[in-house]
Amino acid sequence: MSVRVRYAPSPTGSPHVGNLRTAIYDWLFARKEGGQFITRLEDTDRDPTRYKPEYIQDIENSLHYLGITPDEWWVSGGPCAPYVQSERLELYQHAAEELIKKGLAYRCYCTEERLTEMRDRQQRQGLPTGYDRRCRYLSKEDRKKYQEEGLPSVVRLAVPMDGKTTYHDLVYGDISFENKLIDDQVLLKSNGWPTYHLAVVVDDHHMGITHVIRGEDWMPSTPKQILLYNALGWEPPLWVHVPLIVGKDKKKLSKRHGSTQFIEFIREGYLPEALFNFLVLLGWSAGDENVEILSKEDILQRFSLNGITNHPAVFDYDKLKWMNGEYIRSASTERLIDLCIPYMAEAGLISGLSPTQEERSFLQSIMPLLVERMKVLSEVSSLADYFYKPPAEYDEKGKRKWLTGQSARKMVSAILAAITEHAGEWTVHATEELVNNLAETMGCSRGPIIHSIRISVTGRTVGPGLFDILVLIGRDETMRRLNTALNLIQD
Ligand code: GLU
Repeated sequence: MSVRVRYAPSPTGSPHVGNLRTAIYDWLFARKEGGQFITRLEDTDRDPTRYKPEYIQDIENSLHYLGITPDEWWVSGGPCAPYVQSERLELYQHAAEELIKKGLAYRCYCTEERLTEMRDRQQRQGLPTGYDRRCRYLSKEDRKKYQEEGLPSVVRLAVPMDGKTTYHDLVYGDISFENKLIDDQVLLKSNGWPTYHLAVVVDDHHMGITHVIRGEDWMPSTPKQILLYNALGWEPPLWVHVPLIVGKDKKKLSKRHGSTQFIEFIREGYLPEALFNFLVLLGWSAGDENVEILSKEDILQRFSLNGITNHPAVFDYDKLKWMNGEYIRSASTERLIDLCIPYMAEAGLISGLSPTQEERSFLQSIMPLLVERMKVLSEVSSLADYFYKPPAEYDEKGKRKWLTGQSARKMVSAILAAITEHAGEWTVHATEELVNNLAETMGCSRGPIIHSIRISVTGRTVGPGLFDILVLIGRDETMRRLNTALNLIQD
């Protein structure tokens, strides 16, 4: 039987990085096994405070960005279409009816008020909360009467009252639950819409899903779903729960730790291959802990479900940044330019999203210098701004050290004088010579001269090679900036 795996996002939020990690595992496993990767929209929660159609776009964009386009989904269709749960309501209703007919599910007429009162009572008595199964034991007559009166009802699963539900998880091993602890969960709501459990089981069955790969936080749902498979007389899939993603404090990754939505990482300028590489390693290891940078092809070659670990994976933001920087430095200049254009345009450093030929060729010159320090693409505008305009402010420490007092004034004046006297070309070699000669004349090392020029011209104390910067900025602009700095110096 060919492997069929699914990623089943709900448009009740922009997808979390953890969801995309699951999607990556699905994609890898499907590719590895020559199977299919399916993506299904689980949109049965229509609470307007949570459900937003734009999240569907975020789901699509995230998958496209990572280059893991599903083989079957709502965008391109497939043999099990529709891949959107709100378009499959009849299937769920049919399954619920079947279960009622078999006596394995029942209509429950309890009102919200009664259920609330029941829960409050259970809480007061320190009992576990759950449905008290009153409607499971309704007499035939009462049931008929309620139906004729048209009382609203939900459908609940009649969970076995004894025995255990056991399953084997490919990551966590054998797991067992006492049936008596499992609630008679609602399968179909009074408006005819399914709950998550019913919809997920019906769809996974009808879509021929062989392995359910999902976050460990879904483990408590698994016995309920297995009971449903049993009741429906269907073979359950294999279960693969992947470990939770946590912050450095070992708590579930949340806003408190930093960005959590995949789309935020795209906006900040993380390259797809960095995100792919980083997310795969959260909970999976190739067996060689020392290997960090792995291309998609490397990963595909090494991937197997055996490599998934069962302990929480720490999301290390610094490591992701470092990794992204590595990928940035290995990307081609042309690609980086294309990726950086939106940030440069937004900062007003270039004319717009389609820069002129002149702007593009200037970008070609500065990009190799910028990438040395770039960790995320969104940093490009702050790293590049001094190539376009004089510094608006100067690094405080640098200013105190190199642009304060008599000696600073003497130094900047000497630099200016040397440049004024310099008649030759303005090249990397010539500017370096100029600094070397000045150091000799002044009887000092090159360091202070270079520092003084750098802070005056860029406003910073660190950056790419100074002589490269000077050539790109040009002689006149260099002198203008040195003059501005000179006027700034106070005793
Ligand atoms: N719709 C669920 C979610 O939002 C799917 C859980 C599962 O994979 O069973 O993650």
